[in-house]
Amino acid sequence: MSRRRKPFKACSKCRLLIPHEVEVCPSCGSAVFTEAWSGIVIVIDPEKSRLAKLMGISKPGRYALKLGM
Ligand SMILES: [Zn+2]
Repeated sequence: MSRRRKPFKACSKCRLLIPHEVEVCPSCGSAVFTEAWSGIVIVIDPEKSRLAKLMGISKPGRYALKLGM
């Protein structure tokens, strides 16, 4: 295990941040994840969040702001 490992991995499809031991995204069902993400967006009320709408987030949760290196 790497020393600088992030506490979460990001779903490549919906950007939800989930613990490493989770194998299927609880939000979209995808099994493709990336460790190359940065920034955390916490969405509490997607209906009222402009950022959530901008990012296409429809469920409350913790999301990666950016995917990729
Ligand atoms: Zn997902």
